[in-house]
Amino acid sequence: MIHQLSLTLPPEQALDEIAFREQALSHLSLPDTVDVVVRKRRQSIDARNRQIRVQVEAEVFSGETPPPLIQYQKPQTDVSLAPQAIVVGAGPAGLFAALRLIELGIKPIVLERGSDVRARRRDLAAINKDHIVNPESNYCFGEGGAGTYSDGKLYTRSTKRGDVRRILEIFVAHGATEQILVEAHPHIGTNKLPAVVTDLRESILNAGGEVRFDTKVTDLILAGSSSDPNELKGVVLANGEELTGVGVILATGHSARDIFYLLHKRHVRIEAKPFAMGVRIEHQQSLIDQFQYHLPSRPDVGRGEYLPAASYSLVTQTRFKGVERGVFSFCMCPGGFIVPAATAPGELVVNGMSPSRRDSQFANSGLVVAIADEDLRPYADEGPLAGLALQQDLERWACQMGDGRQTAPAQRIADFVDGRVSNELLPTSYQPGLASVDMSDVLPDHISQPLRQGLKDFGRKMPGYLSNDGQVIGVESRTSSPVRIPRDRETCEHVDVRRLFPCGEGAGYAGGIVSAAMDGERCAEELVKLYK
Ligand SMILES: Cc1cc2nc3c(=O)[nH]c(=O)nc-3n(C[C@H](O)[C@H](O)[C@H](O)COP(=O)(O)OP(=O)(O)OC[C@H]3O[C@@H](n4cnc5c(N)ncnc54)[C@H](O)[C@@H]3O)c2cc1C
Repeated sequence: MIHQLSLTLPPEQALDEIAFREQALSHLSLPDTVDVVVRKRRQSIDARNRQIRVQVEAEVFSGETPPPLIQYQKPQTDVSLAPQAIVVGAGPAGLFAALRLIELGIKPIVLERGSDVRARRRDLAAINKDHIVNPESNYCFGEGGAGTYSDGKLYTRSTKRGDVRRILEIFVAHGATEQILVEAHPHIGTNKLPAVVTDLRESILNAGGEVRFDTKVTDLILAGSSSDPNELKGVVLANGEELTGVGVILATGHSARDIFYLLHKRHVRIEAKPFAMGVRIEHQQSLIDQFQYHLPSRPDVGRGEYLPAASYSLVTQTRFKGVERGVFSFCMCPGGFIVPAATAPGELVVNGMSPSRRDSQFANSGLVVAIADEDLRPYADEGPLAGLALQQDLERWACQMGDGRQTAPAQRIADFVDGRVSNELLPTSYQPGLASVDMSDVLPDHISQPLRQGLKDFGRKMPGYLSNDGQVIGVESRTSSPVRIPRDRETCEHVDVRRLFPCGEGAGYAGGIVSAAMDGERCAEELVKLYK
């Protein structure tokens, strides 16, 4: 028999598996025998009130074998002799596109400029310890894309764009914890992601697909006139090799600036797209826990054994020079680390990641300001690449304001709001180190002023947030792509160029791991509908 259960319990009863089983069985008056299986379906923490509660939905199977937890099965087909399609980029969009192509009978050739996850670790160590940025393999480029060394948050607001459950099941089938199917805000963690990414690659290879690392696409093979191309036949690699396929899924992410320049040079239409930039903000995790879990602000009182490191999401509207500007927190990493995410020497970009246990003493989040059209006016000559030029200028300037290496410019939060350079900075999770500067010398006024206004508002909403016990660290400039590669709403094909499928975050159709993965699947499906 199957019983459906919906319980609201204190954390120690809901989040401890043995205690939860006891609760479930006692609620149903069932004996604790081996043929009773308790399976959680959904779990979310409600911390709005002082009495924190966890809502759990579960199924209890008594005397009955539960069905498999996931429906998804790794590909069983062999596509080694099937027609081939080119997938540029092995981020979530590219990897999930490749897997879906296999399911639909096409052989994917995945081309990735960066290294495999294992070799990539060396490159990350070189950035953190020696300040050396390899422009081909870094926190954004390499196997698994920008999502590999991240927090691995797997929630998305774009639920209408695809089947989120399916994406989560694919992650589970490739080694992610089953917990991600249950949590309201699932995440994998940077320590677990490389193994999952490796297994995704194995699935592609086992089915007869190809994955080539250290393989950069540097040109496009286009048909039609050079000023008005109408079909993409294939791609050219850095070593001059040419590859063709029934279609090309271009999933190169938002940091592949050379791809945007290439498209523009080859007269493949691209467009400017709204985006946001700002800083990372770092606090002690205990401060965020105290606020979110209503704890007394005493060093001896923590969140306890069961509650996870708390997160937050903040948003406000500000006004600068008569223009409304949203200021919002972005990609919060509880119990995490700030990482150097630049993709070229001479640039500085910060981002965040967390281990699966989210057990670092720090909490960090992006805090960013929407860029308005008028901010791009000085870059008007760049046409659709204006936002990209502004972004790059800011990253270069931030690098110079550090020490020309990966040392990040920083300021304590209250000092930033009051316009005072901090005498001393706080300990940080950012490994390459910080330089104390006036952040309003780093950021243009259209970012620093709204940030100040936003911080005042957030300080009111979340006491302790605006204080000198936290610091702002710059610059968080790669929140989303400043460029869109326009495509047909239905077919996902480029609006002018046949067989080109702009895909994922770089093309402007995703903002995060899950939405990029869903977009990868969708582009694969549309490519197959048109060209198989
Ligand atoms: C540090 C960090 C933490 C993050 N944390 C999270 C998180 O917790 N949750 C979340 O949802 N999102 C997170 N993100 C964002 C997320 O990683 C991206 O939204 C997602 O990876 C986008 O997927 P994508 O496949 O579209 O592009 P990408 O992941 O950027 O992948 C693009 C790939 O294309 C390759 N490529 C580029 N140019 C070429 C070329 N010319 N030839 C061949 N290959 C090329 C790149 O090397 C890269 O591997 C994080 C990002 C970073 C940097």
